[in-house]
Amino acid sequence: MSGVTHKTGFVYDEKYRDHILTPGHPESPERLAAIRDKMARDGLDDKVVWLSPERDMAGIRKYVSIVHSQDHYNSLNEDSKTHEIAMLSAGGALAGIDAVFSGKCENVFCALRPPGHHAHNNGIHYDGRNQGEGFCFINNIAVAARYAQHAYPCSNILIIDWDIHHGNGTEWAFYDDPSVFYFSTHVFWMYPGTGDPGKTGRGPGDGYTLNCPLEPYSGDREVLDVWNNVFVPSLEKTGFRPDLVMISAGFDSRENDLLGNLRITDSGFAEMTRIALDIAGKYCKGRLVSVLEGGYNPAGLADAVCTHVNTLLTT
Ligand SMILES: [Zn+2]
Repeated sequence: MSGVTHKTGFVYDEKYRDHILTPGHPESPERLAAIRDKMARDGLDDKVVWLSPERDMAGIRKYVSIVHSQDHYNSLNEDSKTHEIAMLSAGGALAGIDAVFSGKCENVFCALRPPGHHAHNNGIHYDGRNQGEGFCFINNIAVAARYAQHAYPCSNILIIDWDIHHGNGTEWAFYDDPSVFYFSTHVFWMYPGTGDPGKTGRGPGDGYTLNCPLEPYSGDREVLDVWNNVFVPSLEKTGFRPDLVMISAGFDSRENDLLGNLRITDSGFAEMTRIALDIAGKYCKGRLVSVLEGGYNPAGLADAVCTHVNTLLTT
């Protein structure tokens, strides 16, 4: 597939920059501003297919309610601005799904915030503790995965999570479910404390959760070792055949992140993107939807996102 140019979608909305947690918070609008500036400088603006988030709140709500409890949803209503933009963030991921299943795009990157992979059903995880939800409100990738399964001929979904933090909300949303294979690399002792490799799923979902903790200060060599020697063989061993590949693309696992301690470089992210595209090419006509999660050094985040998008465009 090398050298082929793909139709790559880019989901974005200026409203994503209106969400402010607290002044000076690392999950800031500057993250998206840096990405947009770098996209323009690199000439990527003219290469991607621009996509807008789904705005039908009732439509988004329908799929949010599959993943999140009523209590969880009600807790968001307390702050209407957060609620509106969190719903629009989920709507961005839904737009990515529409684009790959309508044939408008082969793959899509969703530059949205707030992020989502820590947001879960009701705050209680398998160990009975409330794990908290980080900077997340609605689990964008989980909601989008459920949307794909309901709206399109899409049964099996692979979710790859390379954020430095374990995606506890996503894992939990599909922990019993063999239709979603969840693979995460993360630093185990960091927030939220989940992601034990012994946690492999439950009941019919057993074997469809793959947690691969990394040691602090791990870099490209270590993460790619996991991808090539654990993840890809595991996927083949289970016989899982995805109809869609999704990525929880958190770049707080990149070198020089302000909150992270891993050392993955942009070429490491490019290589992971290529492997994910290979899997998508092998099983599902290249359909891949990547959704922004963390990444708290705005300049580094922008570099990594542009490398990721460039790889989606040209690999
Ligand atoms: Zn993170």
